[in-house]
Amino acid sequence: MLTQNQIKEYEDKYLASYAAKSSLSKGRDYKEPEHPYRSCYQRDRDRIIHSAAFRRLEYKTQVFVIHEGDYYRTRLTHTLEVSQIARTIAAGLKLNGDLVEAIALAHDLGHTPFGHAGEEALNELMQGHGGFNHNAQGLRIVTRLESKYPEFPGLNLTWEVREGIEKHTSKYDAGVEKGKLDPNKMPTLEAQVVDIADEIAYDNHDLDDGLTSGLLEEGDLRKGIELWDIAYKQIYKKYGELDKEKMKFQVIKSLINNQVTDLIQETENRIKRLNINSVQDAKSLKKRVVNFSDSMQSLRNPLRKFLSEKLYSNWRVFRMSNRAKRFIQGLFDVYIDKHNIKLLPPQLVKRIAEDGQHKVVCDYIAAMTDRCALDEYKKLFDPDEKV
Ligand code: MG
Repeated sequence: MLTQNQIKEYEDKYLASYAAKSSLSKGRDYKEPEHPYRSCYQRDRDRIIHSAAFRRLEYKTQVFVIHEGDYYRTRLTHTLEVSQIARTIAAGLKLNGDLVEAIALAHDLGHTPFGHAGEEALNELMQGHGGFNHNAQGLRIVTRLESKYPEFPGLNLTWEVREGIEKHTSKYDAGVEKGKLDPNKMPTLEAQVVDIADEIAYDNHDLDDGLTSGLLEEGDLRKGIELWDIAYKQIYKKYGELDKEKMKFQVIKSLINNQVTDLIQETENRIKRLNINSVQDAKSLKKRVVNFSDSMQSLRNPLRKFLSEKLYSNWRVFRMSNRAKRFIQGLFDVYIDKHNIKLLPPQLVKRIAEDGQHKVVCDYIAAMTDRCALDEYKKLFDPDEKV
């Protein structure tokens, strides 16, 4: 059996000097004996997979609300794609794949039902009570809300995984409550890899889902988006004409490959140029190191603009989001009414004394899956529905 110490030796031998090795971990808030044959990050990954919040990702919206069709990505399949892409990048850069995987699998745990519409609604409803942000909520889930271990609240994850969850940022994440975990330093390279893998995953799967739904047209991509056209020509050169489905899959596969390859090469160059030889070297810099080349960045920008204009702002997506906000608002108004405390599950009512009713109601709604929120809404508002 490969022992935990042998895993450490393996990491010392095969990972880069700037990788976050498990032997260097700052450890857990509550001291625990190490596992005999899993590294601390492998153990964190396993705790995340076995959490309730992870399972709920299956029925949470990415862009398309779940009842729009079974084909589309959910938070769970998105998370798995992020993890796959992040592990590939980590291996290419000789970073710690186990840490990358743990952060990737946890990166969206704090999401509400109905995607960003749900997050916006909860943030508005929580003004004056700390607002709502999915990264901060993710951290709250793993440090407090998951309740499985007699010895401690939450999952007692290592410092590095918690830092990765908090530092995770994207275009939706402005204003993250930064600070608890090394506020003046950059995230580890492993956490930076997950952030970019998240972008690569959603840009590309949203193209796929957007084309499948008919909200996006392949012709528009061919005409207006150079990055798409480059990938299309690569596939056409290799196979000639293909049927629509195969072509779409192959072009998107190629898009991901082109971006990941550029990212690994550019990051490797920067690591050499900036003389990064340790975790601390990377954390002390003013800017993130893991990034695309300028030429790839300028090819990516029009693609992202296209997605934003044609998909995220599409009237059908807007209708889904708008309705979702009304569900969340409706649920919140009912639970926040002092006369309705008994509608909340008893274990949550107990927490009101410590956390206040707003926070408890917010945790309750944020944890719901799309399906659960819809069912609950019907139970509360539809006179024909069983309670
Ligand atoms: Mg994500």
